[in-house]
Amino acid sequence: MLAKRLPTILPPLSLQEALETTKIHSVAGKLPENATLISKRPYRSPHHTISDVALVGGGGNPQPGEISLAHNGVLFLDELPEFKRTVLEVMRQPMEERKVTISSAKVALDFPASFMLIASMNPCPCGFFNHPEKECTCGPGVVQKYLNKISGPLLDRIDLHVEVTPVAFSELSSTQQFEKSESIRERVIKAREIQSERYKNSEGVYANAQMSSKQLKEICSISAVGQNLLKTAMEKLNLSARAYDRILKVSRTIADLAASDDIKPEHLAEAIQYRSLDREGWGG
Ligand SMILES: [Zn+2]
Repeated sequence: MLAKRLPTILPPLSLQEALETTKIHSVAGKLPENATLISKRPYRSPHHTISDVALVGGGGNPQPGEISLAHNGVLFLDELPEFKRTVLEVMRQPMEERKVTISSAKVALDFPASFMLIASMNPCPCGFFNHPEKECTCGPGVVQKYLNKISGPLLDRIDLHVEVTPVAFSELSSTQQFEKSESIRERVIKAREIQSERYKNSEGVYANAQMSSKQLKEICSISAVGQNLLKTAMEKLNLSARAYDRILKVSRTIADLAASDDIKPEHLAEAIQYRSLDREGWGG
């Protein structure tokens, strides 16, 4: 449900984005009947039995895959560890480059593939690891083995790891008013405006996630207190250099959402807690 709602808090497609997305769907013969221009961000959720070619594209007469059909939108992979490992590994390069190069005997083609990846997984095979009430029945080492189905380099490329604990029936049925997508979207649009101003002179960069390592040093400077906090977290959680960069970029976004010029220690602390799957303690 969270994955499906995500497109509703993203800024509306710009005309340029709408044209790109429409082109890809048209090439793939997936344009809805009577549609002239796709105006909504795509949401794609392929099944875990999908082939490498269907996911990233290719074939004798090269076609865009799901990652390109999700261009400018959301790609949702439910039950991530169930996907074939090769399928997940072929996604790594396009996730970095935001495009995929398909080479066949005759041609080499680039399809755009700038998508937001959302993936879900159980905490362990039985599903009850860390459950507040029920007990996990997985044997020793089973939880770690399950998590290891997702490679470290792929996990590193995922910005936010969020543990979702079961929701009690009383909460589900509560009539309390929660924040609506429209109002969250307004905050997202404001943060994106700050970012498009920040990157107005950097071609191809429009959001914090895309900044180069050189920009990272200039844009994500942090105070001595922040540096200390980050150093401790790196050592305690045994984080990779790539995770370090992610934390800085995510903390910049959290600061933007709070309309703060500086990255404050609380923004860093929030970004650090989104690395929960890097923690050695998980399933250890
Ligand atoms: Zn279990």
